[in-house]
Amino acid sequence: MERKMPAAIMRQTNRRQVYQYIYQKIGKVTIAETAEALALDLPTVSASLDELVKEGLVTAMPECHAYELAAQALYAVGISIESGKTYIAVMDMRLNELAGRELAVPFCHADSYYERLVREMESLLDSSGLERGRMLGVGITIPGIIDRREGRLVMAPTLDLWDISLEEIYRHFSHYSVYAENDANASGYVERWLDDGCRDMIYLSLRRGVGGAILLNDRQYAGDNGRSGEFGHMRIVPAGRLCHCGRRGCLEAYCSIDRLSVDLGVTLKEFFARLEAGDEVFLAIWEEYRNHLTDALSMIRISFDCDIMLGGELAAYLEPHLPELYWELGEKTLFETGRMFLNLERFGPHSDCAGTALRFIDDFLLTF
Ligand SMILES: [Zn+2]
Repeated sequence: MERKMPAAIMRQTNRRQVYQYIYQKIGKVTIAETAEALALDLPTVSASLDELVKEGLVTAMPECHAYELAAQALYAVGISIESGKTYIAVMDMRLNELAGRELAVPFCHADSYYERLVREMESLLDSSGLERGRMLGVGITIPGIIDRREGRLVMAPTLDLWDISLEEIYRHFSHYSVYAENDANASGYVERWLDDGCRDMIYLSLRRGVGGAILLNDRQYAGDNGRSGEFGHMRIVPAGRLCHCGRRGCLEAYCSIDRLSVDLGVTLKEFFARLEAGDEVFLAIWEEYRNHLTDALSMIRISFDCDIMLGGELAAYLEPHLPELYWELGEKTLFETGRMFLNLERFGPHSDCAGTALRFIDDFLLTF
C-alpha cells in the first residue's frame, strides 16, 4: 500500500523547495513561474511563500506580484586566520559582505588571541546591528591540514601549529555553530559556487602558504585523509630550499608570496610596481618564481586534465602577466597553451571567509 507523506512534512518540503528555487534565481520570481518550475500547484506555492514572507526569509513585492530572496535575513561569519593577520567577514545569504574587520595581530595559539578574536567579532556584529538569532554559524579558515574524522588540525606550518585538537579553537566560540577548514578549500568552494559547480577544476592558492582544492564531479575531493590538494608540499627541487613544513624543496618554499614580498622587504604591490618599471633584480626574481610556478601548473594539468584557477593574494596582480604564464606553460605541457586552461579567481578578496560562510548557507538551504 502506498503511504502518504504526513501533511506537516509535505508542507515543510514544499516550503524548502520554494525557498531553494528563489535562492537560485537571481532577481524576482512570480507564483506562477515558481509553480511551473517546481511542478507544484498555485495554492501550495502561495501558502509556502506566505510562510517564508512571515519568517522574513523572502520579501513580497505586491506592486509587481513578485517575490525575492531577503538576502540579509540570515548571515554567517567567516574568519580567516593567517600568521600576520586575521580577517573577520560577515556574509549575507548571497555572500555580500555586510561587515568586515582586519586585526593586525600576529597569530598565537593562546587563550588571549582567541578571546580577542571573539571580542572583535562580537563588537563587529554589535556595531553592525546584527542580531545573533539570525546568525547561521562561524566558519574559520586555517592554512593547514584538518583531519575532520579525528577532529584535529594536523599541521599548519605557516602558523607553526602541529597536531592540536580543533576543540582547543572551537571552545572559544561555544555560543555558536563553528566549523574550521583549510583556507584554499574554502576559496575553491566559493569559486565552484560562482560557477554553479559545473566545471571540474583545480584551485591553486598563492598566499604565504601554497595550497589547493580539487573540485571534480560537482564536489570537492577531500582524499582519504582530508589532505588532497596540498600542492604546496610537492617537492619540485631535490634538496632545495627549506619549507615551512620542515622539508626541503617544496613548491611553497619557492612560490610563497613571501618570496616576492617579505623576503625582499617590500609589499606585493611594491614588488609588481618595480617589476613593471623594469627593475632588473626584481625581473630575475619574478622569472625564477614564474618558472617554479609553471613547473607546478604543468604537473597539475598533466595529472588532472582540467581547468586550473589561480587564487590567493597573488592573483590580484597576475592579470598583466598571464601572457607570460600562458607562453611558459605552452612550453611545458603537451599539445596546448596555458590560455586553454588557466584562469584567475573571480570572487576576489576574502574568498576564504566567503567559502567557509557558504558551508553554513548551503547547510541551511538543505535542512531548514
Ligand atoms: Zn613543505
